[in-house]
Amino acid sequence: MTEARYLEDTTARTFTATVVRSLDDRVVLDETLFYPEGGGQPHDEGALSFDGETVRVVDVQKTDDIYHTVDGPTPPEGATVEGRIDWDRRFAHMRYHTAQHLLSAVLLADFDAETTGNQLYADRARIDVAYERFTEDDFAQIESRMNEYIDADYAVRWYTMDRADAEASLDPERTRLHLLPDSITEVRVVEIDDVDRTACAGTHVSNTGQIGEFAITGRETKGSAEERVSFVLA
Ligand SMILES: [Zn+2]
Repeated sequence: MTEARYLEDTTARTFTATVVRSLDDRVVLDETLFYPEGGGQPHDEGALSFDGETVRVVDVQKTDDIYHTVDGPTPPEGATVEGRIDWDRRFAHMRYHTAQHLLSAVLLADFDAETTGNQLYADRARIDVAYERFTEDDFAQIESRMNEYIDADYAVRWYTMDRADAEASLDPERTRLHLLPDSITEVRVVEIDDVDRTACAGTHVSNTGQIGEFAITGRETKGSAEERVSFVLA
């Protein structure tokens, strides 16, 4: 299995790796900084260079391993490649992903509203929440609380825990650990000061101050007890 370096180091932008599998338009590396699509976070893009040639990485998917789809010739097995991720795209995903955690925590703490889904992009995001209907006053309160937490510049940390310990210590309304397959024995926990703790395998900024100003841009009522809330960061 590829060593997923993006899980530990969210500041590195370039890396060197060895090709372990080379297919028609995809390669598997021994290690990578490229985040594969998952958990509502889009895949990274960037480039791989080898033998004086540079190809674009246009898709990254994790199945039995992490596959990088390239738009040119694939490097052969055993080749050394230099990888570079598109930092603007990745950093935007990190900001939006961290904002989503904070928003899920605020909605649960202040409205007892559980997050049921999320999707983020480089320029916007949305979350689905089990809640009947937010008012404009609710939205003003949420924005104010979010920007207060962002301005507080809380530290964001991540670490792994045994699944049993995580099940005993994480709030089941915030983290649906029972949805994970039985084969998962370790859980990666992402913690924002004492405001939020949840299991997540995405990438996040290391301080909430990096998120930027939060604003709600829209809502959609999804059935009788679910709302979809859209937001942007400035
Ligand atoms: Zn996350």
